[in-house]
Amino acid sequence: MGSIPGKSCGPCTMCCKVLVIDHFKKDAGVLCEHCTLKGGCKVYETRPDVCRDYECDWMMERSLGPQLRPDKVGTILMEDADSDEYQAVVDPSTPMAWRNPLVFKVLLSKAKEGRVVVAKAGAKTWRIFDDGSFKPWT
Ligand code: SF4
Ligand code: SF4
Repeated sequence: MGSIPGKSCGPCTMCCKVLVIDHFKKDAGVLCEHCTLKGGCKVYETRPDVCRDYECDWMMERSLGPQLRPDKVGTILMEDADSDEYQAVVDPSTPMAWRNPLVFKVLLSKAKEGRVVVAKAGAKTWRIFDDGSFKPWT
């Protein structure tokens, strides 16, 4: 699936900071050395496949409106490549950003669809359930 026409990252650089990127030995919450917050990726033409291939769910889902762009809500909504989890990934410095009502509404709807919904802030993880409750998760 590709990104939705009309959607672009714009000034968002959330995935270049929040995600673990093994290729660069980059931990969650550490800005990639190639990222400039105003100018984006300094190595855009030669960026590795892991960056080329990545698109967050906001880029791919028409139903996620402009107000849910990751930098606006401090949360990346995404499918986990290694499991069937639907994830809300936030900067460890703002670990409860996923409780934003706009974000939480999406997480709750995914849980009600039967998805395993998980919020992640660095090493901290929570599972969100279809009744709106959540608890630390391993
Ligand atoms: S988190 Fe999504 S919108 Fe933001 S820079 Fe990454 S792919 Fe683009
Ligand atoms: S190489 Fe570029 S696209 Fe990849 S994480 Fe770094 S700044 Fe972002």
